[in-house]
Amino acid sequence: MAIEVKNIVKTFGSFAALDDVDLKVADGELLALLGPSGSGKTTLLRIIAGLDWPDSGEVAIDGENALTRGASERQVGFVFQHYALFRHMTVFENVAFGLRVQPRAVRKDEATIRARVKELLDLVQLDWLANRYPSQLSGGQRQRIALARALAIEPRILLLDEPFGALDAKVRKELRQWLRSLHNEIHVTSIFVTHDQEEALEVANRVVVMDKGKIEQIGSPGEVYDNPATAFVHGFIGESIVLPVDVAGDAVRLDGRPLNIPALGAASGAAKLFVRRHDMAIGPAGSGALDGAIRHVRSFGPIQRAEVALAGDAGKTVIEIDAPRDRELQAGEIVSLQPRRYRIFAAQD
Ligand code: ADP
Ligand code: MG
Repeated sequence: MAIEVKNIVKTFGSFAALDDVDLKVADGELLALLGPSGSGKTTLLRIIAGLDWPDSGEVAIDGENALTRGASERQVGFVFQHYALFRHMTVFENVAFGLRVQPRAVRKDEATIRARVKELLDLVQLDWLANRYPSQLSGGQRQRIALARALAIEPRILLLDEPFGALDAKVRKELRQWLRSLHNEIHVTSIFVTHDQEEALEVANRVVVMDKGKIEQIGSPGEVYDNPATAFVHGFIGESIVLPVDVAGDAVRLDGRPLNIPALGAASGAAKLFVRRHDMAIGPAGSGALDGAIRHVRSFGPIQRAEVALAGDAGKTVIEIDAPRDRELQAGEIVSLQPRRYRIFAAQD
């Protein structure tokens, strides 16, 4: 089912948790909503689910106004960060629950319910845990059961609010891949909320980046990483070196010294230069835009990460750059840095 959200505003007192949000989710898509804590992700998800209502704006599911319908009528499956499994019920009964409490008119017979639960447990690859209780499962297993339970009622939409947020890093990574392949199998329209940029880029085909109740950018993982639309997106996705600069026409200056890089159309005035760590080329002193001294080098895997104190402001500005390991860098070395790819955003952005 396609979802369309238009001009949604939601305030709590005088605070705007959602400030004119527009979003289209295509049928069968797995979309990530990514933003820092407090950016409005859960509020938006609750409004789509029918657990909360906006002050103004529209929500349509499959072209129909959803705001006149309550949560149960919208046929939405929900998975939260904190597993909400019933502790006194087995895994099997937890998954069966939604089917057993359906109105009598649509309720399936016992044999059909049992077959459906078996199918769902197979789908999440945990059929062997059917008779266990939630306390006998790992965190990752509980979340997979929570998902099976959400899918039991054959939801038209699946909403996942930081479902892996409470799990440790290794399990989270496994579950990302698991969720992707599960979605490839069932293709239910899904919105996956996370504050973890790596998780969003790995799980979804499209990423919606939110900050302070507004959508900053919508794009593929490649687009939001390589072509961030705003300073916020550049800083939030992937780690960035950020330097305060001054733009005058096509000239860019740092601390009054020319950087010899074009302004790429940035407006004149105070601005910020954003460079990914691996997009800062490092060469012999005098060769690039920024001179500095290496303070510290750590090498791991294919890269060396160097802390470089920039010349010109008494070494107060220290940046970290990632270089390939073709030549070992040394602490104390005087080097020159040249941004290969960069973006310049006006300072107030
Ligand atoms: P996120 O899920 O991105 O962390 P939320 O949608 O939960 O953000 O919250 C967005 C903002 O709205 C936060 O500042 C939060 O404190 C506020 N907020 C959310 N729900 C309520 C509420 N019921 N009452 C008051 N403020 C709320
Ligand atoms: Mg939240």
